Amino acid sequence: MSLQVYINGKFYAKEDAKVSVYDHGLLYGDGVFEGIRCYSGNVFRLKEHLERLYESARAIMLQIPISPEKLAEDVYETLRRNQFTDAYIRLVVTRGAGSLGLDPNKTSDPQVIIITDKIALYPAEYYDKGLELITASTIRNHPAALSPRIKSLNYLNNIMAKLEGLQAGCVEALMLNHKGEVAECTGDNIFIVRKGRLVTPPIDAGILEGVTRNAVIELAEAAGIGCDQTALTRHDIFIADECFLTGTAAEVIPVVKLDKRPIGAGVVGPITTQLIAAFKKLVHKA
Ligand code: PMP
Repeated sequence: MSLQVYINGKFYAKEDAKVSVYDHGLLYGDGVFEGIRCYSGNVFRLKEHLERLYESARAIMLQIPISPEKLAEDVYETLRRNQFTDAYIRLVVTRGAGSLGLDPNKTSDPQVIIITDKIALYPAEYYDKGLELITASTIRNHPAALSPRIKSLNYLNNIMAKLEGLQAGCVEALMLNHKGEVAECTGDNIFIVRKGRLVTPPIDAGILEGVTRNAVIELAEAAGIGCDQTALTRHDIFIADECFLTGTAAEVIPVVKLDKRPIGAGVVGPITTQLIAAFKKLVHKA
């Protein structure tokens, strides 16, 4: 049976799951989304992801036509219909079909979409040997232009940086903010380890407040490893002992080089290894 996709309360086979070419989600990237994981039948931090989705929608004055409680039920129903216990879940809410002008008031019928699919994992070697990053010349969106706190359907800022990474042979790229400080990667938050403590950019560095980021901060603190949320520059990464990224798809993934320069000993560090193990344990018991 083909994958079942949820659109506005109805289920469609993947090939028949469609939205209008007049949908402002397509025409203008006008909408919001979430990427979520289900592990052994439990959706990881669904409440937090839904909170972020509704906040993103609120920030762009988009009214999601159903309640978060109903959407949570529908996520589980979509997983059930596809017989998934371990899956990647994509929630999308578009502004809906309108005229060819920008005016969101001329749209109607926002599309609430739930796609569940197999998880496309990064190759295991990245977790064993660590990633290499380059710094993209594309800066992260200025918060006063389009706040990185909004997980909107307009991801071109990140895609431009991702292209730079890929051109340089890297699957992820570091993005700086308009002040030249470290912000985040194209689809992941960044942490360094320095003298036994974690350091990660604060939300006001212009980043998405990652659900995985917050889980890792909690895990570190429970293990007696403090975490500072302070502004970082590339310099801090160059002199760090360890570095890793966090994200729903990547989970916790080590970084061993930035711009061809080894970080610390240039190998996956002990605190990173400890947090990878702690995160695995957390998601499987959640
Ligand atoms: N930053 C950006 C730009 C992202 O797209 C993501 C992935 N959603 C993250 C960080 C990590 O967030 P999370 O841990 O909630 O997946």
